[in-house]
Amino acid sequence: MPDQFLIGILFGFIVSLASYYARFLDLSGAVATFILAVIVFGIGGWPWTGPIMAFFVSSSLLSRYGRSRKRQFDAAFEKSSTRDWGQVAANGGIAGVLVIVSAAFPVHDFYPLYLGAIAAVTADTWGTEIGLLTKGKTVSILTLRPVDKGTSGGVSEAGVIGGLSGAGLIALLGSFWYPDFLTAIVVVAAGGIGSTADSILGATLQAQYECVVCGKGTERRQHCAEPARLARGIAWVNNDVVNVVCAAAGAAVAWALMII
Ligand SMILES: [Zn+2]
Repeated sequence: MPDQFLIGILFGFIVSLASYYARFLDLSGAVATFILAVIVFGIGGWPWTGPIMAFFVSSSLLSRYGRSRKRQFDAAFEKSSTRDWGQVAANGGIAGVLVIVSAAFPVHDFYPLYLGAIAAVTADTWGTEIGLLTKGKTVSILTLRPVDKGTSGGVSEAGVIGGLSGAGLIALLGSFWYPDFLTAIVVVAAGGIGSTADSILGATLQAQYECVVCGKGTERRQHCAEPARLARGIAWVNNDVVNVVCAAAGAAVAWALMII
């Protein structure tokens, strides 16, 4: 066990340093990733590290891909593609907790819940990034009326297919260490439902601001160097809060489907 933690420290250090220099993470994000990596690798080894690495690497690369085309949407998002500790904790926190809980209660099987949580955040990230890259219209998940690309709570056909593909990748990887077809289906479903919960929250409770200068909708509290006006939602429900709910929903759905 201590050996595995030593490898985890070395591995976490290499991954966070490389991600920092590649600007996938800022300094706070690199520190958070290091801590998460030591916990996940130290306790869970490769079966638990593989899926979360797949999420992290694929999401970082997808955020980077087509950067120039996506720059036009930057103003709408609260955060940039260089992720900070809040984003790391929001996307990986539930997974980290599940690794610790699984070590504390070894009689129970938390691995499908873990995969469900990761599938949900992967589906959310892939859906968002692929939705931004493709043409085709974006509609509100609630009203089904057209909205601007990048609007939280907006969904597109390509985004849904992309999101399910992301969840599928996690299910596939998971089945390498946990070969059970039904579990793989559960993981894809958890990803789809978890990211749908994310979109619904994004369309309802998540804080949306409107710039008082240029009038654009944004997740940012400030726009055009002026404090923006809260147009809907609750001020503290930001993208990170919504992502925590997304991951938790993914784990909860996997848990519910595994016991029925
Ligand atoms: Zn503005």
